[in-house]
Amino acid sequence: MSTFQDLNLNKPLLNALSDLGFTQPTPIQERAFSAMMAGNDVVGIAQTGTGKTIAYLLPCLRLWTFSKEKIPQILVIVPTRELVVQVEEEINKLTTYMSFTAVGVYGGANIRTQRETLMGGADIVVATPGRLLDLALDTTIKMKSIKRLVIDEVDEMLSLGFRPQLERIFDLMPPKRQTLMFSATLSDDVDAIIDTFFRAPIRVEAAPVGSPLENIQQIGYQVPNINTKLNLLNHLLSQPEMERVLLFTGSRALADRLYTHLENELPGEAGVIHSNKAQNTRFRALENFSEGKHRILITTDLLSRGIDISGVSHVINFDVPDKTENYIHRIGRTGRADAKGIAITFILEKDANMIASVEELMQKSIPIEAMPEDVEISTVLTPAELPHINMPTSKVKIKKHESGPAFHEKSEKNQKVNVRKTRGQQMREKYGKPRRKSN
Ligand code: AMP
Repeated sequence: MSTFQDLNLNKPLLNALSDLGFTQPTPIQERAFSAMMAGNDVVGIAQTGTGKTIAYLLPCLRLWTFSKEKIPQILVIVPTRELVVQVEEEINKLTTYMSFTAVGVYGGANIRTQRETLMGGADIVVATPGRLLDLALDTTIKMKSIKRLVIDEVDEMLSLGFRPQLERIFDLMPPKRQTLMFSATLSDDVDAIIDTFFRAPIRVEAAPVGSPLENIQQIGYQVPNINTKLNLLNHLLSQPEMERVLLFTGSRALADRLYTHLENELPGEAGVIHSNKAQNTRFRALENFSEGKHRILITTDLLSRGIDISGVSHVINFDVPDKTENYIHRIGRTGRADAKGIAITFILEKDANMIASVEELMQKSIPIEAMPEDVEISTVLTPAELPHINMPTSKVKIKKHESGPAFHEKSEKNQKVNVRKTRGQQMREKYGKPRRKSN
């Protein structure tokens, strides 16, 4: 087993790694490092939890050259604002012993302040695609000075619709550059990006796509309806081992409703985060959860990717995700860095197909547990679950509107042209000319 000492690292980086308590590179860190040091483009197939952030940061930082002007040489693009902050923090830890400035920029925050910060100098910029493009087009970020471009979570970025922004960014980049990308899955879309913008990249793979981390215990509960889900959730959350729970729901509206529910059941123990919340609220919810102020964090698939919160003891899928691979991303939030984790999924009858496709992707089945005895099986359906009542359909046939000229002569009756007549005309036709009243 090699150690970080075996890699061609410098003292400042080795010291920072040692402060972090990291001694051995993870497989993807080792492989990405040698590929990048040899000057190659790199395509990394890796999920979060494999150490991929440090895998791209270490060689980028090792290859960085000091400049007094602090013009960015490294650009990291990530899909969410939370990831910008997380990557920035990781950079700050790794560069404790370097004179190095990292700046994070993302949408939804004041662009003027970000411009001013960037003007003050940055050695690396971490950005979301839209905001990056704005700052590149107004030349605040000098794209031609970038030597290394990292795109993290490419598959997620494409599914969020960022392809046009990515293509514009690539167009603004100098042709002589080193490009790295990381993706949890390889789709045709991702392949197209690689074919167009990468030069004979070296492929490094951390874990076979779709294989859930071994240290996650998966459990499924078959539930008949939402109210039973709520009863089961109350029961599970009352267990002392539920120390830090990430609770995934299918929609932002449901996340808010669950929050109200838990505020009643367990006041002050839960926070909620989703894309409709203001950025400050999002950061605060994440912070409260990471720091242990809140035991439970309710979220949508916004947090199923990338975010590294240590010590998540349980992931609960209140709803089955609507994309197969999101199941794997969600459960990957627990069982991180060699810790054991438990992922619990509430399964409705209608979820059978999705569960089958998740199991096929994982090549593993989700063991089903019997409903705990003290959980009440509710028969009360919420309005959304009530069967759709079909109103009796009208027997009157509505003729399809025909446009364009008629294909047949109008019948005599239909040839009558409607002429609007005033009431006075109608009265005259019926009763003749009115007689004048004589005095
Ligand atoms: P990532 O896949 O980049 O989200 O990293 C997952 C977690 O593993 C993060 O908390 C990292 O700080 C941690 N980590 C990264 N590299 C190592 C390493 N070589 N040894 C131990 N932990 C690591």
